[in-house]
Amino acid sequence: MPRIAYVNGRYVRHAVAAVHIEDRGYQFADGVYEVCEVARGFIMDMTRHLDRLDRSLGHLEIAWPMSRKALQTILREVVKRNHVVNGMVYLQVTRGVAGRDHVFPAAVRSALVVTAKRSDPAVALARAETGVKVITVPENRWERVDIKTVGLLPNVLAKQKAKLAGAYEAWFVDPDGTVKEGASTNAWIVTKDGKLVTRPAESGILRGITRTTLFDLAAKMGLTIEERSFSVAEAKAAREAFITAATTVVMPVVAIDGDPVANGHPGSIALSLRGSFFDVAEKTRA
Ligand code: PLP
Repeated sequence: MPRIAYVNGRYVRHAVAAVHIEDRGYQFADGVYEVCEVARGFIMDMTRHLDRLDRSLGHLEIAWPMSRKALQTILREVVKRNHVVNGMVYLQVTRGVAGRDHVFPAAVRSALVVTAKRSDPAVALARAETGVKVITVPENRWERVDIKTVGLLPNVLAKQKAKLAGAYEAWFVDPDGTVKEGASTNAWIVTKDGKLVTRPAESGILRGITRTTLFDLAAKMGLTIEERSFSVAEAKAAREAFITAATTVVMPVVAIDGDPVANGHPGSIALSLRGSFFDVAEKTRA
């Protein structure tokens, strides 16, 4: 069964799916994207992801490639055609195809690509049971990381550095020693008295959808969230640390730059948040 991608109006075999060489996403990273988790046959938090897409497109003055309703249909269709029960669906909207020129082209159609991929939940579960390691890297991204653009080169380099160091994620750290977020995840700690701490989303991070849904879950579980900066030193001394993202859900962090967090084992709060996440996330049947 071949994988299928949606590319600018057509469902095509993934292996031969292609965009034009003058797509502005390819030449200028002039585009935005979203990744939704697919779990047990449902697309998770689609409304919030499409709200954030709307915000990203608005900031870059890129037109929606089609109506929101039509895009929802395509997301569901790509998930279905790829028989994804657990995995992810990816969408990318770029400003479109035009002769290479930095300024916005006149009258260009936004380009849309949607792909989906299966993943084995047992792999993620095993990872959560052991926890992951992170390294820290100096923040070197542009200021508008609140817009989910495909311009991810610093994130790519940071992730590669983490991999070479035997870690799963890299945390960007400001010159004042405070943690921003991971290369593809938001960063959290749990204080000794059980409060969840995460950096305010107004302060140089992406407002993760998983992060937002975790606020709903924390409220349901009677947990307090403090939105404030925390330092690498505070994270190392914390009761727990964890990261969140659509496909990562909630993932315990057990070491930072080679130093163990608490006893070096996944924290119970992170694991229970992970276990209950799907109860609160919005579920759209594919
Ligand atoms: N921060 C960054 C830089 C990301 O790239 C991502 C996800 O790709 C996140 C945070 C987590 O966002 P979400 O929970 O919406 O997946």
